[in-house]
Amino acid sequence: MEDSVNPAAGAANGKVPPASIYGGGAGQGITLPAYFKPTPSVVSASNFFPLLEELGPDEMRISFVGTCPFPPKRDQAATCIMVELGNGSRLFFDFGPGCLRNIAAFQVPVQDVNDIFITHLHVDHYGELPYLYAFAPWAARWKPLRVHGPSGRRPDEGIAHMIEGMKTMTRWHTKGFACGPVGDGYEVEVNEFDYEDDNGICYDKDGVTVRHWRRSHNMDGASAYRLDWNGLSFVWTGDGRPDTLTAKYAQGVDVFVTELQPDLGKLMEQKTGIPQQIYNATIDMVHTDHYATGYVINQVQPRLGMVTHMAYDHEVVNEAIAGVRVHWRGLFVLGAPDGVVINVTKDAVWARAAVLPDSGNFKKPTTETELRQMFGGQIPETMRIPEPEHTRDELLSPGVRAIEIPPSEFVPADVLRPLVNDMGKAFGPAMGKDIPVQFLFGAKGMGSAVGEFMHALRSLASALDLLAGGIVGKALPDSQHKDQVKQTFGTVADMVKQATRQSDHIREAGSAALMGAAKSMQDEGKRGDLKAAAAALVDVVRTVTGQLQKPDVRNQAKQTAGLVIDGLAAQLGSPAVQDGSADPTAVLKAVFATSQALAAGVFGQVLRDPGTAQQGQQALAQFRRFGSSAMADHDGTPALADALRLIGRMLQDPKKLDAVKSAASALIETAASVGARLQNPDTHSAVKGGAGLLIDGIGRQMAGLSGNANGKPAVQEDLPAPAGT
Ligand SMILES: [Zn+2]
Ligand SMILES: [Zn+2]
Repeated sequence: MEDSVNPAAGAANGKVPPASIYGGGAGQGITLPAYFKPTPSVVSASNFFPLLEELGPDEMRISFVGTCPFPPKRDQAATCIMVELGNGSRLFFDFGPGCLRNIAAFQVPVQDVNDIFITHLHVDHYGELPYLYAFAPWAARWKPLRVHGPSGRRPDEGIAHMIEGMKTMTRWHTKGFACGPVGDGYEVEVNEFDYEDDNGICYDKDGVTVRHWRRSHNMDGASAYRLDWNGLSFVWTGDGRPDTLTAKYAQGVDVFVTELQPDLGKLMEQKTGIPQQIYNATIDMVHTDHYATGYVINQVQPRLGMVTHMAYDHEVVNEAIAGVRVHWRGLFVLGAPDGVVINVTKDAVWARAAVLPDSGNFKKPTTETELRQMFGGQIPETMRIPEPEHTRDELLSPGVRAIEIPPSEFVPADVLRPLVNDMGKAFGPAMGKDIPVQFLFGAKGMGSAVGEFMHALRSLASALDLLAGGIVGKALPDSQHKDQVKQTFGTVADMVKQATRQSDHIREAGSAALMGAAKSMQDEGKRGDLKAAAAALVDVVRTVTGQLQKPDVRNQAKQTAGLVIDGLAAQLGSPAVQDGSADPTAVLKAVFATSQALAAGVFGQVLRDPGTAQQGQQALAQFRRFGSSAMADHDGTPALADALRLIGRMLQDPKKLDAVKSAASALIETAASVGARLQNPDTHSAVKGGAGLLIDGIGRQMAGLSGNANGKPAVQEDLPAPAGT
């Protein structure tokens, strides 16, 4: 790019064209340099799929989430550029109307949409702020919004004044929403910098600096921004005339983005009814036409030149590029329509279109980075749900309240819950107390696939409860063994955590299984296998738990379980197994055979019944098939041996042994209680259907993981901290 000679110029004169200045081979493009290649973190060079790609630690990713000035289009919200950095920082440059739904589609948690830099106060650059401002605190972002922007010539022309105006404008909304816990969410930390302080630093945090300088737009108080981090840089000029300060301060930037208004007044009048006199004068007075854009980019000499804030009409695009190419021969990519994604490292620059869902939701903040961002720095251990400022009783007159129709008239009696009339009471006794953060936002430190998976499982478990019509669900709350069951899961979870700490094999196998399962879940056939297996299992469970209705069978089952656990403890704890001279999987097989014989004694008829036996075998075979497809690329044997040795060691502790035995008894009691309900044919079929839906749901939730595989298994740091350490 040091050489700005047009490689095509010779041909136009009928002379032999000079050699390609980029040195590429035939078919490698006229303007594409060798560094135009996917960066290391790019999973699919074709497209960017949100959530399926983790930004590399040394990379910068620039996403165009709003790309036009006016009029807005279905594929173009007003201007907003999202810049994400490998250190976890995420900053937004301008926040034009309509950008928030694209940000949602990019799967950014709404609670994390913060640090917004506004270039100037034309509404196409900040119009979405009130929408975010009004709703994010309701979505539990209880920390202030952080907005950065220039001062104006007068105090009432700077960004701080605009923010005050926004607060006034949204008063009805924010006061009403303050019936709920909003904390400091409606406060705005406004960083109004002196617009005349050219190249002044307006942001300096976590190794990221942002500088600004004046732009000649249609009033004083318009700025350009330059971000620098880790040797990488980005400039967004915002709107304005081509100027000398930009050429100076943006010099040599990696990615240079400026605006472009093609000089096409006649066309725009035909298409939009905006008189061409107005359109032309607007360009001349306040904007950068297509020639000027190329001229400025060429002065700046970036690695990648870009334009945004332009109508993406097809004929306009061609004109725009033709104008730019009069001056700029280097790498050029359009920052429009919405969804253009640029990855940047020191060695590579890559451009793709994002694949965005039409009906996407915001992602729930679950990763450590996301939670840190949401809490504005550190993730607290505990937190207090903010007390609402108002109650509905204060804000609504009794006469208006009286016109409400009572829920008992429209909610079926069996699902009617007490009406929550006061958001302050929605959290019950937790309100006003310091409670663990997990209570509201999942677990702290869930930084990974494992965390996402656990979250997905939890939300699906509650979905299953709903699906089963609360029928089986009701069995648990009724049961006196509920706490014991919870304790059991806690014990198991602790053992798993301990195991992953102690064994590389277990950790690797766990990651491989999780990723493999996520992949298999995307295969309809394999998911079908799993669904059939689950349905068969429900049948078997129904038959077996039916037997548990008899008190003597129940007692016998508990005794049997105790014997099996004792046997396991003795065998797996033996010196031969522990020092590695005996194969623990052989011990497991022996214990398995013994327990089968014991169980046959307990459930006698049931297990020998050909129908049940067949169902059981079918379920096992299907589970095994699914399991082996999930572990196709990984040998789980060393992990199993490690796990068995570890269990053997842990069961040598009499307290642990007793805990496991009593947990087994509690599970048998609960199984009996659930089994009683499963004997009802309606419940039985509801549970079978629910299991199928649950598996489909898990498959959908895991879709993200299967893409995230990316050769990066979950690591120790990704797991929740073990209890009591
Ligand atoms: Zn604009
Ligand atoms: Zn403007």
